[in-house]
Amino acid sequence: MGNVLTDRFGRPHDYLRVSVTDKCSLRCTYCMPEEGLAFFPDEAILSKEEIVTLVQHFSRLGITKVRLTGGEPLIRKDILEIVSAIAALPIINDLSLTTNGLALQKLARPLKEAGVNRLNISLDTFNQERYHQVTRGGNLNRVLKGLEAALRVGFDQIKLNVVVIQGQNDHELLDFLRFTFDNEVTVRFIEYMPIGGNAQTSWQEGYLGVDQVFALCEEKGWLVEPVNIDGNGPAKNYQIKGAKGRFGLIHPISCQFCATCNRLRVTADGYLKACLFWEDEVHLRSVLKDFVLFEKKVKQALMLKPKNHEMALDQPESSFSEKPTWRHMSQIGG
Ligand code: SAM
Ligand code: SF4
Repeated sequence: MGNVLTDRFGRPHDYLRVSVTDKCSLRCTYCMPEEGLAFFPDEAILSKEEIVTLVQHFSRLGITKVRLTGGEPLIRKDILEIVSAIAALPIINDLSLTTNGLALQKLARPLKEAGVNRLNISLDTFNQERYHQVTRGGNLNRVLKGLEAALRVGFDQIKLNVVVIQGQNDHELLDFLRFTFDNEVTVRFIEYMPIGGNAQTSWQEGYLGVDQVFALCEEKGWLVEPVNIDGNGPAKNYQIKGAKGRFGLIHPISCQFCATCNRLRVTADGYLKACLFWEDEVHLRSVLKDFVLFEKKVKQALMLKPKNHEMALDQPESSFSEKPTWRHMSQIGG
């Protein structure tokens, strides 16, 4: 048996999400503030070589699954080289990527050929105008064409990430469910999370539990069955009887998934976050040249990982900063 990264609560960690850039071609309302963000300077961002070394080190520590994210990962000019180099690492058996889909028409096939086996595409609405509003300027047709290209290429799995927000797209849930009838995709309904600036402002008004999807299916008389999807982390997955695709629920707020959390996140500027919500992070970029120090830092971050984000508040004697992260979602990677 190889190495296993385990935290204080016995949770094994085999899944690493690497944000390869904090920059993005969109400005989604739930992810970035309206005024935009000051992006990290180029020299603060991990280079291709650093990302590959980092993943290599993690693979020695027991990580087998990697997701590349951002910001928008496909705006990095060397993204295909990063993918190929990670895909060539013998221990990494699952390489996935999360994208806003804008560049997929051109990049779906090269990504697959370079070694991405699963793809998540963020798409919150099928309505042109609403898409333009939610993303502050995005073009829905481009994403739909990107999705078509990805479906043609034949990834092992394609998921659509739908952040459900009251008054924004909650009336489109049925359309997304219907989309699963004829399309080999998993539509993932994600609860809106209070990360970064939205924690203080729009979050309370926009939050909606995703369990309401079941009531919609019942109203329609659709029979829903649970299904298993490999490598699926916190999502619970279901299929409407007769549908080609599936749907999944990610409910970090209404139903905490922390007990089974198997993931670590590295930000584009090289910090390891063991928990999405809290401020605690350790700098890995500075120890990339020394595996022993690297391992020590990773274990230090795991020791800081709280049991869950509410438990942390119940432990005044703990070493947690008890401050939510200052980062916006685009600076973490989701
Ligand atoms: N730019 C890529 C994209 O949009 O897919 C990758 C990065 S984005 C930060 C990763 C995921 O985080 C997306 O699916 C996005 O919808 C989700 N996300 C961003 N802000 C969120 C929030 N406040 N609550 C829930 N999900 C969020
Ligand atoms: Fe960019 Fe993705 Fe955030 Fe939208 S969700 S602003 S596409 S990083």
